[in-house]
Amino acid sequence: MAEEFANIIIDISHEKVDRTFQYRIPDALKGRIRVGELVNIPFGTGNRLRKGYVVELTDTAEYDSSRIKEIAGIETKGVSAKAQLIELAWWMKERYGSTMNQALKTVLPVKEKIRQEERKIIRTSLTKEELENRRLEAERKHYKARERLFSALVDMGKVPYELATGHLNLTASTLKPLIDRGDIYVERLAVYRNPVTEYEICGKEVELNEEQKKAADCFKEDYRRGKRETYLLHGITGSGKTEVYMEMMEQVLQEGKQVIVLIPEISLTYQTVMRFYKRFGNQVSVINSRLSKGERYDQFERAEKGEIQIMIGPRSALFTPFSRLGLIIIDEEQEAAYKSEITPRYHAREVAAKRAYMAEASLVLGSATPSLESYEKALTGEYRLLTLSGRAKKDSVLADTEIVDLREELKSGNRSIFSRRLQELIEERLNRREQTILFINRRGYANFMSCRSCGKALKCPHCDVSLTLHRNGNLKCHYCGFEMRVPQSCPSCRSPYIAGFGTGTQKIEEITKKMYPMARVLRMDMDTTSKKGGHEEILSAFSRGEADILIGTQMIVKGHDFPNVTLVGIVAADLSLHAPDFTCGERTFQLLTQAAGRAGRGKRPGHVVIQTYMPDHYSIQYAAEQNYEKFYETEMAYRKMLHFPPYRKMLMVQLSSPEEEKLSRAGDRLRSETEPFGTQEKELEIIGPVEASIYKVNDIYRKILYIKHGNYDILLKIRKHLEKLDLPVQLQYDLQ
Ligand code: ADP
Ligand code: ZN
Ligand code: ZN
Repeated sequence: MAEEFANIIIDISHEKVDRTFQYRIPDALKGRIRVGELVNIPFGTGNRLRKGYVVELTDTAEYDSSRIKEIAGIETKGVSAKAQLIELAWWMKERYGSTMNQALKTVLPVKEKIRQEERKIIRTSLTKEELENRRLEAERKHYKARERLFSALVDMGKVPYELATGHLNLTASTLKPLIDRGDIYVERLAVYRNPVTEYEICGKEVELNEEQKKAADCFKEDYRRGKRETYLLHGITGSGKTEVYMEMMEQVLQEGKQVIVLIPEISLTYQTVMRFYKRFGNQVSVINSRLSKGERYDQFERAEKGEIQIMIGPRSALFTPFSRLGLIIIDEEQEAAYKSEITPRYHAREVAAKRAYMAEASLVLGSATPSLESYEKALTGEYRLLTLSGRAKKDSVLADTEIVDLREELKSGNRSIFSRRLQELIEERLNRREQTILFINRRGYANFMSCRSCGKALKCPHCDVSLTLHRNGNLKCHYCGFEMRVPQSCPSCRSPYIAGFGTGTQKIEEITKKMYPMARVLRMDMDTTSKKGGHEEILSAFSRGEADILIGTQMIVKGHDFPNVTLVGIVAADLSLHAPDFTCGERTFQLLTQAAGRAGRGKRPGHVVIQTYMPDHYSIQYAAEQNYEKFYETEMAYRKMLHFPPYRKMLMVQLSSPEEEKLSRAGDRLRSETEPFGTQEKELEIIGPVEASIYKVNDIYRKILYIKHGNYDILLKIRKHLEKLDLPVQLQYDLQ
């Protein structure tokens, strides 16, 4: 039986997409109307015909069914980009579990009522001294938000409005009394809307090498013949994947089709973007999260009108309303940033596959370290595997990599965080005026403080995490922003012997400066890049040669090309191995491989030193060898043994509640509701609910239930069943 009613939105460029109108499907059209369809409907008292998109089909009348009007007809003018996106939203709602409205909001660019053509900045006319007094006053009264604002103003003199409302977590109502009092004022600057300026097209800049040509030709040949497939371009760092993408894009554009290129935000640097502009000129547009909604809307509108043919951007660029989409490229496809943190919690890779399928487009995934999921599909033939095994530039070879066992260093009396070998190599670089990158997978000064007498770490009173020591001498919680002075004695046992442990970027910076007073040192982490453009500034200063040593976290290892870097030191390779998560081996391998790939991109040979307490761990061993295949085999065997994805599918349900009692009752209920799904097939496994790795955040307790099964559809069924239970706790689902 076909459904009776259709829920329809009339104006999807409007601010609110949640306003739907219900219409009856006339018998003649039953079974012919799909989600996404553009239809004609009588609207308002005059019953004037208007166009609307079907967003949902249902058998339930929303009000008195005799008063529901009928759809007048189907608008048959080809499938528009919007229709496709609405259908995609519907698929996302089913797949990831969200409301249709949430899915539509993710997929459709929403026009803002007042277009934001200005940028707001919070300024002050107070002196530094007055600001400091205001800060102290706020601190005394425990006005946390005010304190953060004043302290930012003391530091920077002015604060961008988005930074205040975003990063500092202030609201308009906290700002208002300060404006009224005359402490601060908001300045509005008009901004130039179009982020694209004119570029010279230089055409192709390099000749592809044999391997690159082979990979590109394989795709082009398929494309010409009308074959649409998913490809995995597996190329080591520096193998020239971007050149291959551009060659593929050329072919697609020639056939009058359009292209979406996804690049993780962190790698979306000026350098990278310019390569595309130089090759394709003004056919290209770029979006990033720094654009206002209005600016993003403009870019999407240009795409819809066909004014541009290529859209480059992070995750959300996937929803560019191209009507002749021919290719989606996802660079660094293994990146965690491709997964959305808000509902619907979609993965760009999966949604891209769906959109490509709907649009009859091809999909290219690229990476030096593909996700296990993708590589498995490439091996089984579901994806076509294209391989680049050598560096693209002549004379550029993979760096020499050595592993240093930190336990041995300690044994022979070296208590510094730099091994003797690393020190030797750093000195050598300084003498030769070459550059060094020191990589650490942490932020903050020292990871945590603990009591040497009772062994307890100092924890946040609201969250179940250790506080981080910052250079200003305060302890800070990275989850809720709680901050306190370092206490004189242990809160548990009153012992005065409390001390910092671990190493962070700030600490390494200090030590480096002390050891090499002549060296120019730059540091890049969340703290130094929170200012707008800070990230870009530090990278370009380093690539201009304004520093000898760059110290940083994950951010520095992503896709930047520094030809003068001949040494990469990975200070503590195992830090990421201790994360309580089955993917930590994979993450560690990816990070180390990418970090190692930064060395020796120019003409001079590179060197990589991996310092570790676990020199025998396969993630570290194979990263040092840059041996992806071996890593894949070992990691897959482990996943298979423990029944983890991609070998098995897994549904994770996170329960949270301020009341522990409710949480545990809900947990039992979820478990017992899940168990019956396993009666026929023994394949069902339920683990937990167990406490989340951080049990308490912001005074909310969290538990996780793991449900594993070989069959994806059964897990989908389980999720739908659990969603209907209406338990008195917050639930969040993640299906992988
Ligand atoms: P990947 O994305 O695989 O890390 P890139 O595409 O960024 O690699 O290429 C790395 C460097 O090699 C870039 O500077 C690029 O201009 C250069 N390059 C790529 N292909 C060639 C080629 N065929 N000949 C010369 N240089 C190349
Ligand atoms: Zn103690
Ligand atoms: Zn906290």
